[in-house]
Amino acid sequence: MSAATDVIPVAKPFLGPEEEARVLEVLRSGHLSLGPRVPEFEQAFVDRLGVPYAAAVSSGTAGLHLGLRAAGVSDGDEVVTSPFSFVASANAAVYERARPVFADIDPVTLNLDPAAAAAAVTERTTALLPVHIFGYPADTPALEQLGLPIVEDACEALGAVHADGTPVGGRGHPAVFAFYANKQITTGEGGMVAIGDAATKERIDSERNQGRAPEMGWLDHDRLGFNYRLSDIACAVGIVQMQRLPFLLEQRQRVADAYRAAFAADPVDDLTLPCDDADGNRRGWFVFVVQLPRSVDRDETIRALSARGIQSKPYLPAIHLMSFYRERFGYREGQFPVTEDVSARSIALPFFPAMSEGQVARVVEELRAVLTA
Ligand SMILES: *Cc1c(COP(=O)(O)O)cnc(C)c1O
Repeated sequence: MSAATDVIPVAKPFLGPEEEARVLEVLRSGHLSLGPRVPEFEQAFVDRLGVPYAAAVSSGTAGLHLGLRAAGVSDGDEVVTSPFSFVASANAAVYERARPVFADIDPVTLNLDPAAAAAAVTERTTALLPVHIFGYPADTPALEQLGLPIVEDACEALGAVHADGTPVGGRGHPAVFAFYANKQITTGEGGMVAIGDAATKERIDSERNQGRAPEMGWLDHDRLGFNYRLSDIACAVGIVQMQRLPFLLEQRQRVADAYRAAFAADPVDDLTLPCDDADGNRRGWFVFVVQLPRSVDRDETIRALSARGIQSKPYLPAIHLMSFYRERFGYREGQFPVTEDVSARSIALPFFPAMSEGQVARVVEELRAVLTA
């Protein structure tokens, strides 16, 4: 394929020789797990977010699971959360045999609507699980008014900042970040829980490592635990990625600005772009998701874009409409109209730090051609 028709991927990690060098160092040291790279990677989050503690874990999902356990979620409890999310946020509650109680989202920010969340609280609610969707800060300050434990799904929101200047993940609730290859930083697979208090740090450190207390011998365990450890190899990649973070966020901002400029120069009718930063909140750019006009067939659009060398994907499906959630919890269509409307029309366009202005222009041009065909 020529340069003009090369496939533009929907996401692409940004890695360099520095990551390779740090990984080699770990491999040559022979200390592949439970070694020095783990606290070093954790320290990078402590420094970035201004929290007292952080715990590296094997995935964002693992972090959400341990965060909910630390919040005291167990059998028969209810966790109020957003149905417009990656399925892992709701699944984490199900792991503890709790019920994910969905509340609808704000049509502009696409985050949990605090009023809807408040209305969903019952005497069985043990935690709130807001998701900072697409990197836009959820209204955590409003949720804090409800006086319940909060666990934040910040897996898409590294770099985001709340209106009061607090970095997303820096409010003291267990807040979980994720490092799959499409996230702001990657370790291949991996996650980090930002933590506000020593007891939670101690519990999560233990539960990620088979329930072992810090002073205990290798095979001594005083509580139920998991193997949710992150290897030193992965942490070595993460350490370099955290050093790159300001650059990576800057590049994501540049690409988002290029999309906005291209759509502003020649608007596509009835296309909804990601919301602008408002009221002092700042997005940490993760994906560029647009909502297609209601008259358009989304799957057909994705196929047509693909035929033109542009990758895109439906993003995100409504969790309550997934068959497992319908069958296990009795959710059905019509319960969360904003989520259903938005999720039926949303597609993620190619978006990654090394994306050129030319590639952005080509995506916008092809999308326009497909939509006006
Ligand atoms: C990526 C992501 C997760 C989970 O991350 P993994 O590391 O893949 O387990 C959870 N929630 C949201 C909203 C995400 O985008």
